[in-house]
Amino acid sequence: MALNDILQKIRDEEARVGREVGSTRLIAVSKVQPLERVVAVLDEGHRLFGENKVQEAAGKWPDLRERYEGVTLHLIGPLQTNKARQAMELFDAIETVDRPKLARTIARLAEEMGHCPKLFVQVNTGEEDQKAGVMPADADGFIAECRELGLEIAGLMCIPPVDEEPSLHFALLAKIAKRNDIAELSMGMSGDFEKAVAQGATYVRVGSAIFGERDYS
Ligand SMILES: *Cc1c(COP(=O)(O)O)cnc(C)c1O
Repeated sequence: MALNDILQKIRDEEARVGREVGSTRLIAVSKVQPLERVVAVLDEGHRLFGENKVQEAAGKWPDLRERYEGVTLHLIGPLQTNKARQAMELFDAIETVDRPKLARTIARLAEEMGHCPKLFVQVNTGEEDQKAGVMPADADGFIAECRELGLEIAGLMCIPPVDEEPSLHFALLAKIAKRNDIAELSMGMSGDFEKAVAQGATYVRVGSAIFGERDYS
């Protein structure tokens, strides 16, 4: 099955670049996929998934969590502040913290709810207008701001521009993480996860290479 091929490729790349084998976790990105494909991957024993929309995740994961123990769910798409509470109830990690207002909302809710998902700051490494994330030059300041709010920033996340060499963006993200003493790096998708592993990804987010193409029609 495709899942095992991807896992093997990750392990092979870790070995090739001299990283500890097993140090990169695979987030199976299940957005838009038909339920039977998601269930097939759960039946294979995989438990780490990513969704990019709160509403879509709310429609399937509470049921799936009842049927399958030990599921971990990451939010990998933009989060509006008015959906923050629901996101914090649904997700084990939010990878898209990218602005002070959202950070303040999460901090307030975390206090109120008594728990907080694992948090990643999204960095717009390509400085693209249409993309979410803090600009690389603002990343250190924003991370400091989050920490002052009492938030623990576990990792950084990026989505490189489609038409640029992703390795450069992965390396930039790794550099920002290192100087801010941040351990986790979420980077790499179906087309470039091996390059992300080579640059130190601790999470790769792979959708279509596991589940097949997404049908948006
Ligand atoms: C959809 C998505 C992915 C997975 O994309 P594939 O190319 O299907 O592997 C990864 N990261 C984010 C943020 C996404 O929205």
